[in-house]
Amino acid sequence: MIPRNFMVKNCVESAMSTSRRGRVDDSGDAAPVGEPDLRRYARQLKLFGEEGQKRLKKATVTIAGAGGLGSVTAVYLTVAGVGRIQIVDDDVVELSNLNRQILHWEKDIGKKKAESFVDKLSQMNSEVDVVVTTRRIREDTVAGILNDSDLIVDAMDNFQTRYLLNKVALQRKIPFFYGGVYGFEGQVTTIIPGETACLRCIFPEGHQPETFPVIGATCGVIGCIQATEVVKYIVGVGGLLTNRLLIWDGLDTRMEEFVVERNPACVDCGDLDS
Ligand SMILES: [Zn+2]
Repeated sequence: MIPRNFMVKNCVESAMSTSRRGRVDDSGDAAPVGEPDLRRYARQLKLFGEEGQKRLKKATVTIAGAGGLGSVTAVYLTVAGVGRIQIVDDDVVELSNLNRQILHWEKDIGKKKAESFVDKLSQMNSEVDVVVTTRRIREDTVAGILNDSDLIVDAMDNFQTRYLLNKVALQRKIPFFYGGVYGFEGQVTTIIPGETACLRCIFPEGHQPETFPVIGATCGVIGCIQATEVVKYIVGVGGLLTNRLLIWDGLDTRMEEFVVERNPACVDCGDLDS
């Protein structure tokens, strides 16, 4: 086993060496990390320092979908101290959501999902600005919804909306963190516009039935990977899950990954400059 101190030291060095990826605009004078935050985030400050924490605080992340994947990513991005989180969902909570959408509880049935998220997330970390968008993501609304986003988490359950998000993310050069679940299986990848394969390069035609089987723990595994990618991207540490599709097979408890490449003929990113 690798000694813990060694790992921490390596992480800090890695944070410094990769900080050029700076990711979210860190120009301007961010306020220093205050005393309460030094205590709240003490364990992660050991990994990426106050500079990383300030970057998290300045970031605006849109989570598209307040369901199973959205629940998990929203929790971990909130406790990590992302400054602003936009939750986009126009649906209401139903009893059949509760096996996987862990931010919705019995008392929330009938409420707007996005509002149920705000209720829980604001109690987890009152410093995070959680905003709600209950408009449906469509051709005519998507640009406005993503207006101020630095990053987009795909927590949708259908490919039609995912392709729309992918397209706008590419046009605006917004990093896009894809996750999908089905039954005991999940898949996840990170898309950096103009640099990596996009969703359409990987899945030229994606289909997902409207009602599909899934257990909550699958959302947990995939959502945690998405949240880890988002945090790494913002603070500028480690290597990202780009040009790789990670497949989680929960039935056999295996992870596999496949190399994916940009398709020069891709209808969505083929003519995008690197
Ligand atoms: Zn593409």
